[in-house]
Parts: sequence; structure tokens; C-alpha cells
Amino acid sequence: MKKDAKIYVAGHRGLVGSALINQLSQQGYTNLLTRTHAELDLTNQNAVKKFFSEEKPEYVFLAAAKVGGIHANNTYPAEFIHQNLAIQTNVIHESYVNGVKRLLFLGSSCIYPKFAPQPMKEEHLLTGALEPTNRPYALAKIAGIEMCWSYNRQYGTQYLAAMPTNLYGPGDNYHPENSHVIPALIRKFHEAKVNNQSVVTVWGTGTPKREFLCNEDMADACVFLMQLPDNQFQKLLESDESASGKLQPPLVNVGYGSDITIKVLAETVQKIIGHQGNIQFDTSKPDGTLRKLMDATILHQAGWQPKVSIEAGLEIAYQDFLKHH
Ligand code: GDP
Repeated sequence: MKKDAKIYVAGHRGLVGSALINQLSQQGYTNLLTRTHAELDLTNQNAVKKFFSEEKPEYVFLAAAKVGGIHANNTYPAEFIHQNLAIQTNVIHESYVNGVKRLLFLGSSCIYPKFAPQPMKEEHLLTGALEPTNRPYALAKIAGIEMCWSYNRQYGTQYLAAMPTNLYGPGDNYHPENSHVIPALIRKFHEAKVNNQSVVTVWGTGTPKREFLCNEDMADACVFLMQLPDNQFQKLLESDESASGKLQPPLVNVGYGSDITIKVLAETVQKIIGHQGNIQFDTSKPDGTLRKLMDATILHQAGWQPKVSIEAGLEIAYQDFLKHH
């Protein structure tokens, strides 16, 4: 990827997209292409067609998606499946029509079966039933991976899917109900501290485990993948015979390497924010999947490692929250 290559970051205001813009700018990429939602509705096929034919990007980071936490996924299932299918279908197809050199399609670890062996490997895709709370989102993302794979096979394109574990960091959505657990807890503990409220309610039993990766690390991994030399990138697309002996889709896990319980997470956030008081668990709220730790061996073998610890990342995220709220 040359420093003046035309790079389109779809979803540049989102958690991953904004970190991607920072990362690419820091590394000296000068020709970054972005459009706000108001300027370009990615669910609109004609608008996407026009944009690609006029702009002709060479590289595409597909970080635009309808995303949210467990409550949002449960409450707006139609929006999650419709918007994600439409966005990825339009962007992947127009990338093909307009000769995009490489495309990186982003999703999440919820594409894997609810009871996948832990840590989850790329080859566990489509080996079991999905977690119902985010199935519409997961199925859309699985369709996107299949689309990348199909286009690679039929048209010889270079489209890779990178599935991160649970992400957090600067620029997150701090909505009290619709956000993911880290921004929700940052908000709850901060408000409790400011309002001298001693009890903070955390959803579920506190026992589910999650693996968390800072968006800065995610962006770093995405740029790393996009920059891989041809032979190494091609190897990821062909994704050799797995242990099961089946051909694998062009799919790479992006993980942190270890997970923590929601209880420990809540205590860590409480400590960083400096809230004094008790944590109460609201078991009427869903736990979701009990565990979803990723096996990121493929990415690690390619030469990438995360840099931001959970404590450091939470501190960065809290400072960002204070700046914007
Ligand atoms: P998930 O990883 O798709 O389940 O998405 P979330 O980040 O929304 O939730 C992760 C876990 O954190 C689930 O077990 C939630 O029940 C739990 N959790 C605890 N408190 C909260 C909260 O205030 N908001 C959210 N979104 N999740 C919470």
C-alpha cells in the first residue's frame, strides 16, 4: 500500500473507523477518502455505485456497520440484519466492479457458534447454532465473509475478513442502554461517583467472560493486514486446510489473548473511575454468551501483537469519556 494510495475508510466516525483514520494518518498515508452518513448512505445501492465509480478507491476498509450491545441487538433485530446486509453487499460488490485492490471486511466474534470451543478458531465458523441475542447481526456478517470468499474465488479479488473480539476505546458509544458493556460501565460508575450514589447496577450475573481489545490495537492490526506483502496476504486468503481438513474462508481473528469476567471488569472500571460503593447484579438482564475468547494464532503468526493492556485501555477510554461528556 503506497503512502499516496487512495484509501476509503467506510464508517470513519465509528469506533474502528476513527481509530483507522488516526493510525493511517500517523503512518503517513495522505490520500484518505471518507464520507459521513449524511453525505453517503451506504444502504443505498445507487449512491454507493455512484460514489465508487467517481472516486475509484484502491483500498477499502469496510468498518461501517449497524452495531450495538446486547440490548440494542435484541430490540432492533430488523435494523441490524437489514442495514448490515445492505451496507456490505453494496460496498463489496462496487469494490469488485471498480477494481479495488484489497478490501478488509470487519465484523465481530459473535459470528462464531454460541457453544464454540474456547478459544474460538476461524475454522469454528458455521459449526453450530448462534447466540440468539445477536443472531441477525451475526448472520449478516457471516454472509459478508461468504461474499468476500465467493468474490475471491470467482473473480480473483483480494478481500479479507477480520473479526475482532469485543472492542472499546476513544469514540465509543456511551448510550446507557444501547451501548456495549465497557462504555455502559464507564458511564454508570462515573455518574454514580458524581452523584454520590453508592450502588451501581451491572447487568446479568457477572460471571460471563469477555475478551476486550482497544480500538487503537484493532486499527493497528487492520493496517498491518492491509500492508502485508502479496505472498503473505494471499496465504491468508487461501487459508490452508485446517485441522478439520476443510477449506477455510478468508477469515482472520483479531484478539487480545485473554478474557476477564464481567464482575472483574466492573471492579476494574470502578477502581479507575474512583467510585466508592457496591456493585449489584441485575439477573433479570441477559448474560448472553458465557465466553467468547478468540484464538488469534493466525494473526500472531503473521507477526502482529496487541499493545494496549485492558487497564491502560480503560484509562484512555475514561479520559475520552470525560472529554466528550
Ligand atoms: P455481548 O458481548 O454481545 O454480550 O455485548 P455487551 O457488551 O452488551 O455485553 C457483555 C456482557 O456484559 C453481557 O453479559 C451483559 O449482560 C453484561 N453487562 C453488564 N452490565 C452491562 C451494561 O450496563 N450494558 C451492557 N451492554 N452489558 C452489560
